[in-house]
Amino acid sequence: MMRKQIAAANWKMNLNLLQAEELVKAIVATGVSLKENQQAVFAVPFPYIIPVKQMLDGKNNIYVAAQDCSAKNNGAYTGQVSAEMLQSIGLKYVIIGHSERREYNFENNAALAEKINIALDHHLQPIFCCGESLPTREAGEQNGYVETQLKESLFHLSAEQMKNFVIAYEPIWAIGTGKTASSDQAQEMHAHIRSVLAAQYGEDVAATISILYGGSVKAANAVEIFGQPDVDGGLVGGASLVATEFAAIIDGLKS
Ligand code: PEP
Repeated sequence: MMRKQIAAANWKMNLNLLQAEELVKAIVATGVSLKENQQAVFAVPFPYIIPVKQMLDGKNNIYVAAQDCSAKNNGAYTGQVSAEMLQSIGLKYVIIGHSERREYNFENNAALAEKINIALDHHLQPIFCCGESLPTREAGEQNGYVETQLKESLFHLSAEQMKNFVIAYEPIWAIGTGKTASSDQAQEMHAHIRSVLAAQYGEDVAATISILYGGSVKAANAVEIFGQPDVDGGLVGGASLVATEFAAIIDGLKS
C-alpha cells in the first residue's frame, strides 16, 4: 500500500474562534475529497481543538492536531498541555519540534525525544519537524545537520514504532519567507532522510514513513513539490489560513 500523503495545516498563533470556524466551514464547503491514502490535518491552537474537531466529526480522513505537547506527564507545570489530555479528547496527531518552538522555547533534540516518547505512550502520532537554518545550508552542512536531528530525537525508537511515522522536513530559511525550496532541493533532502531511516530501520520500514515538506507551500507550487517521489505532502503555515489555497493544496496531494 502506498504510504500516507498528508496535507497538514499549521495555523500557529492565528485567528479568533469565529475566524477559525469560518475558515473550517469554507474549506469544507469547497467539497474536499480525500482518497484512501490521503489525509488532511489541522494543527490548531489548543482552545480550538475541540470545536474544530466537532465541526470535522465524521469527515473521512480529516484530523485535528495539537501544535505541541508537554514533555511531562502531569503536575505543577503551569501553562503546559499534556499528551494524556490530548489523548483524552480523542486527538490523533501532535506536531513535535517545530522550528519556532526550537527557537523561541529552546527545545533541543534531547528534549524533543522526551516529547516523542510521551506522545507515543499516549497513542498520538507525532509529526516530527526537522530542518536546517540558512547558514547551515550555505555551509553545505544540511544533510548532516538533519541526520543528527533524526538520530537524537527518533533513533531510540523501535522499527515497529517507526512504521508509518510522520516527519516534516522544513528548511528554516523557507518558513514564512515566501522562499520555497525548489522541488529538486526538497526531493534531494527527502531522499537523504529516507536513506538515513533505511540505514537504521531497513528499506521496508523507511518506505512506510511519510515525509512532508514545509516552507512556503502554496497552491501554485504544491503539485510540483508533492509530485517528487519522496515528498508525501506538506506542512503548511501561511497558505493554510486561506480556504481556497489550502483546499487546492489538499487537491495537489498524490494519490
Ligand atoms: C510552518 O510553519 O510549518 C510553515 C511551513 O510555514 P509557511 O508555510 O508559512 O512557510
